[in-house]
Amino acid sequence: MNATSLPDAFQRDPHAAPGPDSVWFVFDGHRLILTAQEELPTGRAAPLPVTDTSGLGDLNGRTMFTAALDGGLPDGYVSVPVRSAFGMLGDTLMGVAGYASQILEFHRTHRYCGRCATPMQDSAHERSRVCPNCGLTAYPRVAPVAMVLITRGHGPDTEVLLARGPNFPPGMYSAIAGFVEPSETLEVAAHREIAEEVGVTVTDLQYAFSQPWPFPHSLMIGFTARYQGGEITPQPGEIEDARFFPVTALPKLPPRVSIARALIDQAVQRALGHV
Ligand SMILES: [Zn+2]
Repeated sequence: MNATSLPDAFQRDPHAAPGPDSVWFVFDGHRLILTAQEELPTGRAAPLPVTDTSGLGDLNGRTMFTAALDGGLPDGYVSVPVRSAFGMLGDTLMGVAGYASQILEFHRTHRYCGRCATPMQDSAHERSRVCPNCGLTAYPRVAPVAMVLITRGHGPDTEVLLARGPNFPPGMYSAIAGFVEPSETLEVAAHREIAEEVGVTVTDLQYAFSQPWPFPHSLMIGFTARYQGGEITPQPGEIEDARFFPVTALPKLPPRVSIARALIDQAVQRALGHV
């Protein structure tokens, strides 16, 4: 597991029953509510006024729930963007928090049938919403993103191709990434995004690892590839700058929790002979 995936011991159960030891992941909009003192999700049968409650499952005998705050934030609580909860919660609770935010968002955005506008109901036997009128079934959305770290050169002379979008924090660069389109394989999506965003060709595309990214519901699928040819040509409007950086002189990088950073760190370690 990693900080954005569910803990291995977590057992999904939409029909989990609340108890005195239950943990509640309550959201105010997209902000997670924590107790002000301990900076933890709320417990003790959720003293907060909530709506849109959903069972999440069970972790080591404690059932877990997600819900939306109904009303103003009472004293004794703080709310933080889910991303900011990294470092406040441990990996285990952070993994559940990401899941909780996605399940709550699924309920918020599937109140009515997209085909006939009838109010949807929870399925009795799986995590889905069903239309009682026309039978349409909706599942929590997962949007796959292909991400590629492109390298050239060998050993300590290795360089990595990094790019920055116009909305990135100042000075930060990352790997090439984009959403997979309908009817594309991951490999085709990876090559297409590279061609669109930086205009180069690559070879030796290899799957590395993946990571759920619950902001709001992506699945990042990480690849590595070797530069083959072409001039770097940043895509207008999408890519502000793209260039090869020596592994010994990297710019500001994405946070350690991200798969982009994991791909870059791995490339650096390999280039410098540490793995
Ligand atoms: Zn319907």
